[in-house]
Amino acid sequence: MKNLFILALSILILSCSEKQNQTSEESQVEKLKQKIAKFVPVEITYDENLLSDREKVVLEKLYQASKLIDTIFLDQVYSKNYEIKNELMKKTDEASKLQLELFNIMFGPFDRLEDDEPFIGTEKKPIGANFYPEDMTKEEFENRIKQNPKDEKLFTSEFTVIRKQNGKLVAIPYSEYYKEPLTKISNLLKEAAEYADNPSLKKYLLSRAEAFLSNDYYQSDMDWMDLKDHSIEVVIGPYEVYEDGLFNYKASFESFVTIKDPVESKKLEVFAKYLNDIEKNLPLDDKHKNYKRGSESPIVVANEVFTAGDTKAGVQTLAFNLPNDERVRQAKGSKKVMLKNVHEAKFEKLLKPISELVLEPELLKYVTFDAFFNHTLMHEMSHGVGPGFIKVNGRDTEVKKELKETYSTIEECKADILGMYNNIFMIEKGVYPKEMEKQVWVTFLAGAFRSMRFGIGEAHGGGNAIIYNYLLEKGAYIYNDKDQKVSVNFEKIYPALKELCNLILTIQAEGNYQGAKDLIAKYAVSSPSIETLRKKLESLPVDIKPVFEIEQKLK
Ligand code: ZN
Repeated sequence: MKNLFILALSILILSCSEKQNQTSEESQVEKLKQKIAKFVPVEITYDENLLSDREKVVLEKLYQASKLIDTIFLDQVYSKNYEIKNELMKKTDEASKLQLELFNIMFGPFDRLEDDEPFIGTEKKPIGANFYPEDMTKEEFENRIKQNPKDEKLFTSEFTVIRKQNGKLVAIPYSEYYKEPLTKISNLLKEAAEYADNPSLKKYLLSRAEAFLSNDYYQSDMDWMDLKDHSIEVVIGPYEVYEDGLFNYKASFESFVTIKDPVESKKLEVFAKYLNDIEKNLPLDDKHKNYKRGSESPIVVANEVFTAGDTKAGVQTLAFNLPNDERVRQAKGSKKVMLKNVHEAKFEKLLKPISELVLEPELLKYVTFDAFFNHTLMHEMSHGVGPGFIKVNGRDTEVKKELKETYSTIEECKADILGMYNNIFMIEKGVYPKEMEKQVWVTFLAGAFRSMRFGIGEAHGGGNAIIYNYLLEKGAYIYNDKDQKVSVNFEKIYPALKELCNLILTIQAEGNYQGAKDLIAKYAVSSPSIETLRKKLESLPVDIKPVFEIEQKLK
């Protein structure tokens, strides 16, 4: 009898826990679905008719090389990524399938929209990603350099990984560490070069193929700046340092395969002519102005065909400004490539719905595609103005090196505020009509909420939080608690913005690391109204998920 009772009880307990398991599984599936629904699928198409038959072959080779870039970047993010992906691919249950789908969006088991919270397992993302040994501390790295100053260049290089061998830190060049995939990529670029009839493109493909083997990207960055009269605009290699949250030293692999939009590109060349005037007009002490960043700063408008690696993880890039090598930027400036088809997709699917929830209704008429596109253009141009190489206590250095991990946030903030400031300057110059002014202010504000949703911890979101909180404090933005909407004080916004520009540019010019840290601690925070509005936006998708036509075609 007693035994029977225990049996019955245990059956009861068993079925209870089964039920619990089932509900927790259901809620896990539900959560994953919600996370995936944050990304609206958009087909990224391209116009093949702009290319010759030989150019189509080039495009295909570049696509294949880019697929390999995806695999390298996956390893850069997290040492266990391959293992996790292989496990997920073997499983057939619904939760695992959804996990894999989200994993592919995020390039790893960490939610890039939730400050890298894990959605598989419980392990936190290492702050230095897979660029450094997981257990390495900042002090350990800095001491290693202090003890061997001649190794500093190799250890802080964008193109080395740090590993521990026999308890000692060593720096290994990418060309060695990723030798196998980089050799394949190099060969594909050489094959592409055979079909490239444009001499400047051929030259770039060949020198970049060489760079993957030599680990020296300088010449190929120079060649990329010299691309001329080409249809296929491609950049492939290690570039941005955002993934390295420890020092912002190490570059992540990425690629953009695009086709130039010749009509739009011509229009935009006009603005490059204003670069010197823009530098002169900066609200910054004249002694800090920098006219030596190179005058040649081409702007290209292109339509995306395929992207890979860093740029595809989580949130999709609207435009990029490369190269990052200050030596190249000083010699040749930098090139801005704006992705028009991505702009259009994001404006329609994301920015319009956000504006309706966040802005006072009478402001909605000022949210326009023109203002959105023009801000991105000026954001990118603005990365190329202001302090780059600087002197601190008589020592020659770079803003990037002095500001360390604060650099990305400060630099993105700079580009966004100067994006507005310089567009107002363009109105003064008569390049844009006067009516554009209100559109500049209002469209940016809607856009700020679009990027703050990606998390304040990320450079773009953090930069936007600084701007929003600062302008709110100065009364340039007004938050209405009753209807939970924001409006703009059109009188106060320009002087307040100018003040912030001066603050940020001076921090950069002086290489003021402590100043940058203080500013970030005070303003790059999720203040009460950001918190409320972010909650309101939770129901909306956060970004697009590109479904590449070329990937479907060449599957
Ligand atoms: Zn930027």
